[in-house]
Amino acid sequence: MTDHPGTMNCAEFQAQLPELIGSGANTSDHPHLRSCERCRAFLADLETIAEAARQLFPSVEPSEKLWARIESAIRDEAPEDTQDSLTQS
Ligand SMILES: [Zn+2]
Repeated sequence: MTDHPGTMNCAEFQAQLPELIGSGANTSDHPHLRSCERCRAFLADLETIAEAARQLFPSVEPSEKLWARIESAIRDEAPEDTQDSLTQS
């Protein structure tokens, strides 16, 4: 019901997050984040994990392989109902 034109759902947004962060974009300015508290929390978690990864691998650029590991780690922890959040207003 909140699926306005131009508004992506949480799964789509979260799928794009590593790319957004990797490109140096200002993710906190993303329209989806302004309207989605769940994804703001998700981004905070992602940044925490990314920061931890940087400290674990200080000499390694955040590669696609690293992001894939981060993504899969998040997916393992992500609640199953992520895609249902569109029903929240
Ligand atoms: Zn969201």
